[in-house]
Amino acid sequence: MVHTDVVVVGAGAAGLMCAAQAGYRGRQVLVLDHANKPGKKILMSGGGRCNFTNRSVSPENFVCNNPHFVISALKRFTQQDFIDLVDRHGIDYHEREWGQLFCNDSSKQIVRMLLTECDWAQVKVQTRTQISSVQKLQSGGYELQSNQGSIRCQSLVLATGGLSFPNAGATDLGYRIAQQFSLELVEPQAALVPFTLQPKELNRFSSLSGIAIEVEAQCNGASFRENLLFTHRGMSGPVILQISNYWSPGQTFSINLFPKINLYDWLLEQRKQHPKAELRNILGEMLTKRLAQVLCDLWDCDGPINQFDEKRLKAVSEQFSCWKIKPSGTEGYRTAEVTRGGVNTDGLSSKTMEAKNVPGLYFIGEVMDVTGWLGGYNFQWAWSSGFCAGQFV
Ligand SMILES: Cc1cc2nc3c(=O)[nH]c(=O)nc-3n(C[C@H](O)[C@H](O)[C@H](O)COP(=O)(O)OP(=O)(O)OC[C@H]3O[C@@H](n4cnc5c(N)ncnc54)[C@H](O)[C@@H]3O)c2cc1C
Repeated sequence: MVHTDVVVVGAGAAGLMCAAQAGYRGRQVLVLDHANKPGKKILMSGGGRCNFTNRSVSPENFVCNNPHFVISALKRFTQQDFIDLVDRHGIDYHEREWGQLFCNDSSKQIVRMLLTECDWAQVKVQTRTQISSVQKLQSGGYELQSNQGSIRCQSLVLATGGLSFPNAGATDLGYRIAQQFSLELVEPQAALVPFTLQPKELNRFSSLSGIAIEVEAQCNGASFRENLLFTHRGMSGPVILQISNYWSPGQTFSINLFPKINLYDWLLEQRKQHPKAELRNILGEMLTKRLAQVLCDLWDCDGPINQFDEKRLKAVSEQFSCWKIKPSGTEGYRTAEVTRGGVNTDGLSSKTMEAKNVPGLYFIGEVMDVTGWLGGYNFQWAWSSGFCAGQFV
């Protein structure tokens, strides 16, 4: 039987951050992971360059049943705190649009940095460890059974992440342990994920696969202006991934294909200047020829623009600036970057991440019902929540 102060289950972003912090406080920490190496999702993140945080982070960048929950942790370990850590380790990085920060070289540097921190804090990281059960002891503390034997600890931290990318080692262990201790779950759902379309629509849009255009998309009060990409399965691109954080099955969302202009005014002007031009060609100037053609066919609005009176032009403008789409679903956990939902934050302390009714049990990172936007926010939540729990475990 191994005895230690703290067991962290999950050697990912949140788990390694928490473990190093607790280790620096003098706690004896053991990190367990069933995978063959730590930080697999960090390694694959940001196209291999890890978008590790964002220049600008605020609670509005997160989806959570209790929007206030994230405020405290984001304040106590900010994006600048993480940038300082990256600087101390001599990792070079660059900024892309929307304040996204990426490693210049490789995500491996972030994993190496976290493992170095764990090493300095005398944390032990043990991979290939499968946990079969967890039990709360009468005397306080927890006992875990694993394929590497039994382990006893005072504090148990679940940092097992979400369900996306099962190939990278995602499991529902964190959710199962939460339920074992009567914590509620917000139903997990694939997020930051492409949408699929009904076969009929897919057929209609099949010739558009590969086209990318900047649009504004709206869903349930959220609005994003970024690129939309037509794919052979449906719709993807950053704007779709962002909107998927707010979408639930069965709902529609809308797309403004002309976010930069007032389409109606522009069409009136075009009619004045090029009265004989085909509407599809005019729209195609901004949308690409193929997309304009497909949508003009779909909405039955073809012909020279001078045949369109104000009422019809108004209707055309509305179609193109408020295109309502009902996805058939998403591509699911296979391609989702994150899982929305998870351990309900109502049952957790926003200061310590400890379960309010289960002393010594902590949840951090993506396993909780906190989902960030695309752009480095999910890692920032892992760092912030991991750091906070690390001060108390
Ligand atoms: C392809 C891809 C790209 C991404 N890119 C970015 C990006 O650039 N920026 C960003 O902010 N976010 C990105 N994300 C999201 C980000 O990776 C996660 O939100 C983040 O890793 C969550 O940290 P975590 O520590 O909670 O979970 P993870 O980092 O997922 O760590 C969980 C750990 O728990 C272990 N584990 C799971 N189940 C068990 C079990 N039963 N027993 C033992 N161990 C277990 C896993 O092996 C894993 O090591 C990306 C995600 C994916 C899939």
